[in-house]
Amino acid sequence: MTPTEQLCLACGLCCDGTLFDGVQLEPGDDAAHLKALGLPVTTYRGRKPVSRFPQPCAALCADRTCRLYADRPKQCRTFECKLFKQLHAGETDLPAALRLVAKTRRVADQARRLLRRLKDIEEQRSLGERFHRMDDRLRADTSDPAALALFADLSLAIHRLKLLAHERFYTRAEKTSLAE
Ligand code: SF4
Ligand code: SF4
Repeated sequence: MTPTEQLCLACGLCCDGTLFDGVQLEPGDDAAHLKALGLPVTTYRGRKPVSRFPQPCAALCADRTCRLYADRPKQCRTFECKLFKQLHAGETDLPAALRLVAKTRRVADQARRLLRRLKDIEEQRSLGERFHRMDDRLRADTSDPAALALFADLSLAIHRLKLLAHERFYTRAEKTSLAE
């Protein structure tokens, strides 16, 4: 197994709803086929129809392999995060890259724990979406000081995660899970 393959199998952050909200299909992707394979693809009709499926991805296995690897859509085939590129180019080594993934995962796990303490158990939604929904909820109801204190910790964790994501993972102005 190559170092980049080892890295991705230890990571999965671009599939599990941490870095992104979902995957948008591109020309050449077969939405009906992906749907038949179990991905909940939705097509939004408009002047330019858009098909996408949400993350955490239904095809992501517990060992962080992709159940649909051979059939995965184009974005999944072509996406390489900054860390992946750096490892591939020899600008970092595997142990350092794995430490960075572990650190990022710890911050994301902390954010998920805080969301659970705030009674958000919608694990099927991306982390960014859950955070924004909680933000809306607590702006509408500021009566619980304990919840507001937890939300302050959550905001800090999400801020740390955004910094890590922008500095070490995102490669361009991607539509991300952690957008403002
Ligand atoms: S975020 Fe990068 S290192 Fe992690 S699985 Fe995706 S491409 Fe691989
Ligand atoms: S289809 Fe596979 S590669 Fe694409 S987001 Fe889902 S688990 Fe990741």
